[in-house]
Amino acid sequence: MSGQSVAVDTPWERVADSIEFIPAEYSVRDQPESVAQEMLRCGPAEIDRLVAAGLPCEERDGVRHFDTNDLYNLGMYSNTSKTQPELAFRMLFRFAGRPVDDLLRAKTWDFQVTLECPDCAGEAPWRLEAPDIDRFGGRLAEVSEPDPGAGSAAYTATVTTTGARTPVISPVLRELTQEYLAAGYRWQMIPVPMQADYGLVHELGATSCIAASLLLTERFRDAGYRAEAKRGWFCGVLGGALDLPHACVEVEDDDGTLKTIDIAKSQLAARLSASTGDFQELCLGSIYNKVIPSTASGNAALGYHECGSKTPVHVRADIRSVR
Ligand SMILES: [Zn+2]
Repeated sequence: MSGQSVAVDTPWERVADSIEFIPAEYSVRDQPESVAQEMLRCGPAEIDRLVAAGLPCEERDGVRHFDTNDLYNLGMYSNTSKTQPELAFRMLFRFAGRPVDDLLRAKTWDFQVTLECPDCAGEAPWRLEAPDIDRFGGRLAEVSEPDPGAGSAAYTATVTTTGARTPVISPVLRELTQEYLAAGYRWQMIPVPMQADYGLVHELGATSCIAASLLLTERFRDAGYRAEAKRGWFCGVLGGALDLPHACVEVEDDDGTLKTIDIAKSQLAARLSASTGDFQELCLGSIYNKVIPSTASGNAALGYHECGSKTPVHVRADIRSVR
């Protein structure tokens, strides 16, 4: 090792210790070691150290494979400022440090969702939990729904979102939300099926958008409020390159209006930068133009194919801003 710039040694053992690896029953180890090295900007020796420190892997054809969530979480919490997850999240949340007025105006998106049925059993109708935005002042236009078919399909639309400052007024809802935020759950990328098991996620000391929304919904209901966790899409997610599942809580406030609480985004923004206070507050009741709510409830799938296959449909969104 001569003639190279001196690299700061990343304490990978400590990073591995600081996150929760995805438990075996939810782990999908399909990312080869080359991808792991690229995501974490490291070499084989560092991957060896991570595996020794507990990073689950599976060897196939002599190549180690890893779960993409584990790699993301290691990168996010590595504090190297150079891993792909750190760069992606910093870019993704750049907006959160800017004046929030920009998040309150009407904004139009080219919305495209690809539905893929991996073990398709043949021709059948498709069903997508479509954007559901008129309730929050948005508009849906030029909708093209998929015809019955096999294998894969696309849904396209032009979606206009908008924002409104409607902070939660109920002291009870505020307190329950603050209690959750203060509990110190650690935000992690967690596969969607595991997030539905929100008891397990929180027992591990972790949290993520869907799991957080499901737990907070339960607490709101226990306090006598009408609440429902709903899924949706978080726009501007690098053209879909980062598939960040989104969910929030819809709750009827003391003034009788429906408010949305984007609990995990508030928490994630706080972790990424201290200068995001206004955005964090916006997440607690207000509507902002980077979210497209869907008709899907918090722990339900976004898309279905009625071919009879038991394998869930993959739903991938590509949402781009229209000038
Ligand atoms: Zn199918």
